Formats: sequence, structure tokens, C-alpha cells
Amino acid sequence: MPSLAPAPRLDLLGLPLEQLTRLVVDEIGERPFHARQLYRWIHQRGVTDFDQMTDLSKSLRAKLRERCALEPLAKDLEQRSVDGTIKYRWRTRDGRLLESVYMPAPDRKTLCVSTQVGCAMACKFCMTGTLGLLRNLTAAEIVAQVHAVNREVAHNEGLALTRPLTNLVFMGMGEPLHNFENLKDALQILQSEDGPNFSHRHITVSTVGLVPMIARLGAETDVKLAISLNASTDAQRDELMPVNRKWKIADLMEACRTFPLRQGRRITFEYVLLRGVNDTDEDAGRLVELLRDVPAKVNLIPYNENPGLGFFTTGEERAERFREILARGHVAAFIRENRGRDIAAACGQLANRQGPGAAAQESPSGATA
Ligand code: SAH
Repeated sequence: MPSLAPAPRLDLLGLPLEQLTRLVVDEIGERPFHARQLYRWIHQRGVTDFDQMTDLSKSLRAKLRERCALEPLAKDLEQRSVDGTIKYRWRTRDGRLLESVYMPAPDRKTLCVSTQVGCAMACKFCMTGTLGLLRNLTAAEIVAQVHAVNREVAHNEGLALTRPLTNLVFMGMGEPLHNFENLKDALQILQSEDGPNFSHRHITVSTVGLVPMIARLGAETDVKLAISLNASTDAQRDELMPVNRKWKIADLMEACRTFPLRQGRRITFEYVLLRGVNDTDEDAGRLVELLRDVPAKVNLIPYNENPGLGFFTTGEERAERFREILARGHVAAFIRENRGRDIAAACGQLANRQGPGAAAQESPSGATA
């Protein structure tokens, strides 16, 4: 299928209020007040059509229509799991595919957000890793996932709210800290009072452990941190997660110890249990040692098998025993509930390859982004 050319018009969805104001004042010649009105239409009410912005003058709306765009993602596919999880696949203007996963629960509505198309980190057990990095998502494309799912949820569940989502986890396709500037702009928008106003307590950014960027995340944002640890020794982690060849577990732990934590907050460590690879009693014991001086919570993730990758799920008993060893070592650990497995929407399964009519993502060599 031929790629659509990237939009020549400026996408307003990815501009924090300050930048939007500069655009409205300097380029369009309007007063700053109108930038805030526009920003609220876009980010508080989720409106994607300039003509619906009824308190903006007709001439301003015409100028915006001519020069600016608001909708970088089109819904390509929606798949519903028996457990209520919904996987959305979006198509970007240049024909890329990406996914976001909606996970409703009685006390929260969480969206798992993607930050890149594909991923450069190449973790051996992860399906997204097999794609390689196709490109970064723009701030607009990151924000658009949230707005689009807010609209879907409000519509599906008959809610009058413009922002039914309560929690965001940056655990979709890609490595968020490998696309830091766009992530940061998106967070600024998503957390802004004139926008969706998500609380820092309800946003988690997960990383494979790009050590220098962890410090920047701590210095420049106030969101929660999750680390995909997945191993208890460097030898194991070097094999499973190539990033570890650059930054060792000790470097990662040091970055965690110096990460600024708000009162009572802990760092979440994700640990995918891989049968016979990282799930022994000794692994659990070493994990206790590693986390001894870090305020930590461990999410044990049952492995979602991906055909061909050669890793297998740890049995329930083994997983429970692993959790107990952590608990005895005073490390709070939870076995994460597995959601969306039947639609390949679970952790490490996002690769645009499932479902009717799904074509595999174009190879990077064929890309002309
Ligand atoms: N790149 C970031 C954000 C993605 S989070 C990061 O890795 O933290 C995705 C999570 O799913 C990571 O914790 C990863 O270790 C885990 N994961 C990857 N493949 C998986 C699989 N097949 N089954 C279960 N978890 C998996």
C-alpha cells in the first residue's frame, strides 16, 4: 500500500500551551487569550473540528483550517478481549501502524500508550522488539491516542465525561525514554490544567533502563517510574536486554536510588517471568538483594508467549513461590493479572501482526519517512 505523504500542515495537538500561544500570536496575529481558548477546545473537550469551536471568530477558524491540523491518527482496527480490554490500532498520516490498549477496571480506566512505531531496544522476548525502530511518534501522535480513546470510551460506555480515562501507562510500543522530548511535550499537555489534567500520581513511564534519561525524567517531570528489570544478574540481562551491555544493573540501581521520589512513592520494577531463564529461587534471592535499598514494588509479569521467540511462561506455582521469596525478603511483589492475551494486546505482544486484515508493518528499508 502506498504511504500517504506526511501532512504539510502543522499539528496543533502536540503543542504545549506556550508554543501554541506563540503560534497564535506570532504567526496568526491573534491575541494570546485565543490560544488558551483553542487549547481548551483541543485538550479539555477533545474537539477535532475547528468549526465546532464556536467562541472563536469565523476568520480565526478559517485561518486555522487552512494552516493547521488536529487529527494525526485514524482508527484502523479495534479488537475486544473477553476481559474487557480493547486494543486499538491506529494509522498515522504516513501510513504507520501503532497500538494502544484500554484496560477498564472497577476503580480505574487505564490506557497503555505507545511512544514509538517499533522499538530499537531489541529485548529478546518482546514482539515489538522484533520490528526494530520504524520511527518516533510525535507529541501529537502520543496525545492523540489519549484523546481518541477518551472519545471511544465515553461513546461506548455512554458517559458524559470528556475524559473518562483515569490512568496512563507508557508501556505500549517503543521505549519512552528513547523519544524523550516528544514524551515530555506530551506529558506537559496531558497534565496541564487547561487540558486533560491528568495527575502525576496517575501516570507511569516505563523504561528498559536508559540510565542518563532516567535522571532527566526525574529532573524534568514528576510522573512515576517503572523499570523493566527482567533479570537478576548482568549475564542474564545482557542476553535478554541488549541495553544492559551499555548500562549494567548496578548503574541502573544507582539511577533508581538517586531518582527523586515524592513522599511515599516507590519505583515499580517489572519482572517478566521466563520459565527456566530467570525464575529460580536464586533469582528471587538476588532480586531481594538488588532492591534492598530502593523503595520498590515488583510486578511479576507472566510471560505472554510469542511464537518463534523461544521463551515460555513460568507455571503458576513457581510464580507464586517466587513472589513469596520476595515477600519474605520484604519486597512487595504482585503477580500481574494478564489482560488481553486473547487479542495479543498483552505486554510484549504489540506488533501490529494480529487480527483480520492486519498486514505486517513495512520493513525499515522500505520506509521513506
Ligand atoms: N520499552 C519500555 C516500555 C514498554 S513496557 C519498557 O520496556 O519498559 C512493556 C513491558 O512488557 C516491559 O516491562 C517488558 O519487559 C514486558 N514484556 C515484553 N514482552 C513481554 C511478553 N511477551 N510477556 C510479558 N511481558 C512482556
